[in-house]
Amino acid sequence: MSIATAAVQIGLEWDTRTGAVTIPIYQTATFRHPGLGQSTGYDYSRSGNPTRQALEDGIARLDGASRGFAYSSGMAAIANLLLLFKQGDHLIVTEDLYGGTYRLFEQIFQQYGLEFTYVDTSDIAQTAAAIRPETKAIFVESLTNPLLKVADVAALAALCRDHDILCIVDNTFLTPYLLRPLDLGADIAVYSGTKYLAGHNDTVCGLVTVKDPALAERVYFHQNAAGAVLGPQDSWLTIRGLKTLSVRLDRQQDNALAIARWLAGHELVTKVYYPGLPDHPGHELLKAQGQGFGAMIAFEVTSPELVERLLIRTNVISFAESLGGVETLITFPAVQTHADIEPEKRAALGISDRLLRLSVGIEDVNDLIADLESAFNLEA
Ligand SMILES: *Cc1c(COP(=O)(O)O)cnc(C)c1O
Repeated sequence: MSIATAAVQIGLEWDTRTGAVTIPIYQTATFRHPGLGQSTGYDYSRSGNPTRQALEDGIARLDGASRGFAYSSGMAAIANLLLLFKQGDHLIVTEDLYGGTYRLFEQIFQQYGLEFTYVDTSDIAQTAAAIRPETKAIFVESLTNPLLKVADVAALAALCRDHDILCIVDNTFLTPYLLRPLDLGADIAVYSGTKYLAGHNDTVCGLVTVKDPALAERVYFHQNAAGAVLGPQDSWLTIRGLKTLSVRLDRQQDNALAIARWLAGHELVTKVYYPGLPDHPGHELLKAQGQGFGAMIAFEVTSPELVERLLIRTNVISFAESLGGVETLITFPAVQTHADIEPEKRAALGISDRLLRLSVGIEDVNDLIADLESAFNLEA
């Protein structure tokens, strides 16, 4: 079954009593036991809740995983995965990393004795060279934020297999519809479901999928023990969002390609990062490993003054953090998403004060381009 179909099917067969087409929101903390030593399969909602489970089973199916897990945010999901490691363990991480993940690793988990080395994981040789005897995992983003570097997930997963370490892929920017990390050999995929999966800028959630059943059991232990689970209401909203994942992304990608081409031809734009453009360094790789190029664009303009102008003068496009929803958003990474990365480090990564990021939505693309055009227009 294709991903588009499987996504629509999520929760469909749950309510056998009434035949409800959408899964009910099981807004309950606890469940009655039929008898002593008996359980309906649900005892307490931290340990398991039917609405959450429908979502967990659904994302597992979309990713070809043995199990899925839903958390209260993407960061809660990533934090939960780090509980797989112990003092002295070493992880290799994408250098062009989501700022919140970097903050979690450097300002929290480092205190507990985990060590992190940041490398350009699009360079396999550089990644291999960073492996040490204590290395337990490689953590990469399949498509990085904000510069949209493409990870060679198949090669990284093979490298991990050779060294018997875990390959963890943050697949937030691509989703299972555009890339399936576990099919490419990764052990774990993690998502900020807040973005494309829920897709409407109305829910904060995190999702994890795991290939190996024994590893999934360990992740479940930590999910239940640490307890940052997704509530039933938000699980339901995420399921509803997931059902339209394919149509949203189809439209968002069409819009993104048109905008990227338009920006590339604009005299006030000095650089455009979009993997769907043939001159993007990751274009061929993503074409080979994925099913699309996503709908995130980063671009550099001629001056910092123009950055402010674009942020303030766009009207259809909202100046806001986050991404992946139906609304087009514009962000200033140096000040918003990547503020927790030291300025020198930011500059070295290429996140300049002239760089903007667009999360392209499902609006009519002509309205989006007209909005950008009028904001660029210095005469107005
Ligand atoms: C947003 C994001 C996260 C964090 O997810 P939250 O749902 O905001 O906690 C992690 N990784 C990436 C790539 C993200 O874009």
